[in-house]
Amino acid sequence: MHTNEVNQAPMNTEQYVCKVCGYNMLGKCPGHCPFCGADRRQFLTAEAATAQYEVVEEYITETLSRVNTQPAIGIEHAAYRLDTGQKVFLIDCPVVFHPNLRPVDVIAFTHPHFLGAANLYRQSFGAEIWIHSADAVNPLARSYPFDRTFEHGFTEGGLEAWPIGGHTPGFTVYVHADTMFLCDLVFMNGAGMRFNPYGPDRSTRDAGAYLRELIEGRKFTRVCGWNYVADYPEWRMQFEKLLETTGTV
Ligand SMILES: [Zn+2]
Ligand SMILES: [Zn+2]
Repeated sequence: MHTNEVNQAPMNTEQYVCKVCGYNMLGKCPGHCPFCGADRRQFLTAEAATAQYEVVEEYITETLSRVNTQPAIGIEHAAYRLDTGQKVFLIDCPVVFHPNLRPVDVIAFTHPHFLGAANLYRQSFGAEIWIHSADAVNPLARSYPFDRTFEHGFTEGGLEAWPIGGHTPGFTVYVHADTMFLCDLVFMNGAGMRFNPYGPDRSTRDAGAYLRELIEGRKFTRVCGWNYVADYPEWRMQFEKLLETTGTV
C-alpha cells in the first residue's frame, strides 16, 4: 500500500516500457523497441508498469542510497539518490515511475541509454534533467525534455561533473566528496573488471585512461556503478589491472 499523496503519476501522454530491456518509449507505440528490438507485445504502458513495479531505495550512507525498480526489469542501471546538503540529486533514473521515490532537485545522467521515467518524475516533482549535449542528441534520448545540457565539466550544488566520453560521446562521471558515480564505463564482477563492450572499444579505453588522470591524488571511499557498489581500494586495484592488461596505459 502506498500512502504518498504528494506525487501523483502525471501520465497524460502515451509512454511504454520495454520489459526486455527497460527502455521507455515516449509517444506513439512503435512496433519494436528502439533499444533492444523486442516486439511490442513485450511492452507495458507506463501506468501498468507503475501498478506492477515498485521503486526501492537501499541506503549506502545517510545521504546516499541506491535506487532500483523491483522486481528487476530489463537491464535497468542502478540510480543513486544523493543529498549533498546543497541539492538533492538522482544520478541516472529508474525505468519505472513510482510515487514512492522521494523528490529530488536534479536528475543528472551519465549517458543516454536509460533515461527511464525521468520525464514523469520531472512532471511530478519538478526535477531538472541534466545531460551532456553530445548525449542529448542521441536518437534514444531525443524525445526527452532536458533542462540543462553541458559540454564541459562543472561543479554545482556539491556535485562535480566529469565528462570523459568513451562508452558514449558525452559519457559523464559524477563525483561528490568520497563517492564516484561511474555507471557502466566498466563491468565488475567476481571474475574481475572489463570495459563496457557495448560501445566503441578504443574511445572507451581512452576514457578509462583519462579517468585515471582525474582520480589521481583524489581520495575515494566507494564507487557506485550500474549494478554494483564497490569499495574504492578494491575497485582501484581492478581498474589498474584492467588498464594494464588492455594496454590502455
Ligand atoms: Zn527493449
Ligand atoms: Zn549503458
